[in-house]
Amino acid sequence: KNFEEYQLSEEINRALEVLKYETPTEVQTEVIPKALKNEDLVVKSQTGSGKTASFGIPICEMVEWEEKDPQVLILTPTRELAAQVRDDLTNIGRFKRIKALAVYGKEPFSKQKEELSQKTHIVVGTPGRVMDHIERGTLRLDKIKYLIIDEADEMLNMGFIDTVESIIKELPSDRVTMVFSATLPEDVEKLCHKYMKDPSHIEI
Ligand code: AMP
Repeated sequence: KNFEEYQLSEEINRALEVLKYETPTEVQTEVIPKALKNEDLVVKSQTGSGKTASFGIPICEMVEWEEKDPQVLILTPTRELAAQVRDDLTNIGRFKRIKALAVYGKEPFSKQKEELSQKTHIVVGTPGRVMDHIERGTLRLDKIKYLIIDEADEMLNMGFIDTVESIIKELPSDRVTMVFSATLPEDVEKLCHKYMKDPSHIEI
């Protein structure tokens, strides 16, 4: 198996080369083709499996560079993960000049507000700060086509699940949703059932 079979654009293939990603990992083999077909997905997989690139590659492939408002929203339970995901997607999208922005607490709101007023393709953030930006009108959601909830079980453990649900309610219903989680507690399953369209379940 290699990445060629996904018929990705030249810009993405070049980035994978620079990153030295030659062979898709197991989760990437499962997720990439389905994500490229805009399927809703619930993915049970661990950190270290290459899960970030499993959504990062199809997301970067599908982002439309010309669009100014955010097209992708990625929710993470921690600041560290948000920054990591932003860096990974920036690397995957580098030759497409994809702009990924991380928004999280403990960092000036005003700076993020200023950055959000510029062209931003992908917003990665923790639920509290993302909700803040939504409420204050600094994060526009009407062009969001992809929602990714990363480490959903951790969101639950950290008490963020209600905020995640409030954010989902603000998003266009005509979107693709992907949920990644190491375990699938009942409350995560419920959320998936309530807000996803007949998702495929992938277990690694
Ligand atoms: P993750 O599970 O997303 O935290 O990824 C774990 C590590 O695997 C990261 O350092 C990635 O850069 C790396 N990685 C992801 N996909 C591949 C791949 N196809 N080939 C080699 N390394 C990869």
